[in-house]
Amino acid sequence: MNILIVGAGGFIGSHLCERILEKYGDWNITAVDISSEKIDHLLHSKNFSFYKIDVLRNYNQLEEHIKNCDVVFPLAAIANPLIYVQDPLRVFELDFESNLRIVKSSVKYEKRIIFPSTSEVYGMCSDSEFEEDSSNCVTGPICKQRWIYSCSKQMLDRVIYAHGIRDGLRYTLFRPFNWIGPRLDDIRNENNGSSRVVTQFLSNILHGKNISLVDGGSQIRCFTYISDGIDALIKIIENDNADKQIFNIGNPRNQCSIKELAKKILDFAQKYDTLREKVQKIQIVNTNSAEYYGKSYQDVQRRISSIRRAEDILGWKPMVDMDELLTRTMDFYFI
Ligand code: NAD
Repeated sequence: MNILIVGAGGFIGSHLCERILEKYGDWNITAVDISSEKIDHLLHSKNFSFYKIDVLRNYNQLEEHIKNCDVVFPLAAIANPLIYVQDPLRVFELDFESNLRIVKSSVKYEKRIIFPSTSEVYGMCSDSEFEEDSSNCVTGPICKQRWIYSCSKQMLDRVIYAHGIRDGLRYTLFRPFNWIGPRLDDIRNENNGSSRVVTQFLSNILHGKNISLVDGGSQIRCFTYISDGIDALIKIIENDNADKQIFNIGNPRNQCSIKELAKKILDFAQKYDTLREKVQKIQIVNTNSAEYYGKSYQDVQRRISSIRRAEDILGWKPMVDMDELLTRTMDFYFI
């Protein structure tokens, strides 16, 4: 099987490449990205070819690879809330426009597409658990520019779904719920908002800065370890029953408020010799979202996945609990 991974040099892409190369000797990977930093250790592997292509500038080159693959993972996107509010058109251009071209090529060349939707498509849905086919996708007013990411993903979900019906496109949409692990973000950048929440807190600790809780940190999320997410993706690749399905991929047992998360991370950080002294001086402080992200930010209080469908159809279950997830992630960054 020839698998094309666009955005292979990112967090999910790098782990997916690593797993496939470790376990599936007869699958070939064509990896595309503008950066290979996170996959440098794989560049000389058998069955692995890396192409440095900017999908916004050189789509023709990418299209050649689509023609030659069996399955395409379009993972290139901007997935950082601060950029949704500061540069929404950049998000739209990459997350929506460039991926729409990949969807159209997948239809044209009759390729299977496994597309990363997101838990954010549910927006401010008030369901206690989000279900793929019954929960509403609820976003705020246009002035809340933060929703451009959610809307871009939702629109692509709808386009892919419609091509499945009209053209028989073979697709699977998977919705990650806060996947966490090694290589998530580069924590050396110390600016607030430059990373996703866990890596932002780790970055603050590394630089001896206070941890800011936006709007009190009472928001609840369910955190999922990357190896559990990759297990689900492998099951999707292997399982024809995954065709024309949407799967939430999250760990509802790892529900945690952002405030609890900050406390846990500070507590766990005491275990590392290099951090112990810094941690004593770090405080958890409150800020509001307008101050931290700007006025066009808005967020949902509770985002928990139902995973019944992935359990039933894929036979998938997340295994890594919250403490283990944080330990493995922090060991990567601090040992
Ligand atoms: P990531 O930011 O780590 O990886 C994205 C990759 O895309 C990067 O390696 C980047 O260099 C590459 N890229 C950016 N612009 C490019 C361009 N013009 N041409 C080629 N490559 C380019 O993101 P991730 O966490 O690995 O997420 C992968 C996908 O999963 C994204 O679509 C994201 O929206 C989705 N997703 C992730 C999560 C999560 O928890 N990590 C949650 C929901 C959805």
